[in-house]
Amino acid sequence: MKIVRFSKPDQAGYGILEGDEIIEILKPAGDWDVESLKPAGKRYDPATVKLLAPVEPSKIICLGLNYRSHAEEVKLPLPKRPIIFLKPPTAVTGPGETIRYPEKSRRVDYEAELGVVIGRKAYQVAPSQALDYVLGYTCANDITARDLQPARGNWTYAKSFDTFCPLGPVLETAIKNPEGLHINGYLNGELKQSAPTSHHIFTVAELISFISDCMTLLPGDVIITGTPAGIGRLNPGDEFVVEIEGIGRLKSIMGKKTGE
Ligand code: MG
Repeated sequence: MKIVRFSKPDQAGYGILEGDEIIEILKPAGDWDVESLKPAGKRYDPATVKLLAPVEPSKIICLGLNYRSHAEEVKLPLPKRPIIFLKPPTAVTGPGETIRYPEKSRRVDYEAELGVVIGRKAYQVAPSQALDYVLGYTCANDITARDLQPARGNWTYAKSFDTFCPLGPVLETAIKNPEGLHINGYLNGELKQSAPTSHHIFTVAELISFISDCMTLLPGDVIITGTPAGIGRLNPGDEFVVEIEGIGRLKSIMGKKTGE
């Protein structure tokens, strides 16, 4: 099942993308699971609505160095335990949107990643139970002001600007094995990143267990699971696509520098 969020004339709505139509659903008040989704009674032609990021997370938890190939390209040692940092919900943007180039940065990068969407409240869950708390998966782009990462001395600063967390285009609930996917990243149509998610240093189940050991994960929260090798710069006007088999293609456009 492909869950989407979309803009209607008066507000945003949730829906299920089925063939050539979106069946609107009511947003569950608490935990999300596939059985809890109720139709709201309206159907839309996807060509007539604008797709938004498929979730509204209370927080986005991000992984640093979760692929050996990326740790090697940035010449950092492999982590012994997951390196986590946060993006705020204000960083989220939807498919096809423009990334805002911060005036204070001289280099903004793309990072193609798998996004894990939590379906029900999770606190201190064991790895063996962790995937039961997942609603589904989406494509994510961990946009990073690379020069500000060392300049500001932490990762969260460089990765938290508005629009620095594109998500979408859909939230796919049918994936049972998040380590059995393949992720690609295309810069202006040229393949720059390509890796199986089986190359994760820490699996999605291990990540949920590690993160939920210190914080409560809420329905809609997103974990972005790290990027493989091939990261690089985005220049104004560039188009970057994150493609994950079984989910879809998330396109973003790099905007002009703020103020230009
Ligand atoms: Mg990343």
